[in-house]
Amino acid sequence: MLTCREVIEFLMNYAEGNVTPEERVRFEEHLAVCPACVNYLNTYRTTVRLGQQAFKPLPTDADESSVPEDLVRAILDARRK
Ligand SMILES: [Zn+2]
Repeated sequence: MLTCREVIEFLMNYAEGNVTPEERVRFEEHLAVCPACVNYLNTYRTTVRLGQQAFKPLPTDADESSVPEDLVRAILDARRK
């Protein structure tokens, strides 16, 4: 089982295209049993959106530590099925 910290690290790696299909499965298994991480993703997405409305940030791909909003949305959308 992944730890919550590993989930966050996974997101960073995923944004860079550095995860295997097996790692993705483990990540989704963690989300299935960890409301805290699902809540984190929801909060993260909201924060990004509010930030974009408040002011125009620099392109997100200039910041290697950021997780693309598109990625977070795709993960959350997949979980609704
Ligand atoms: Zn977690």
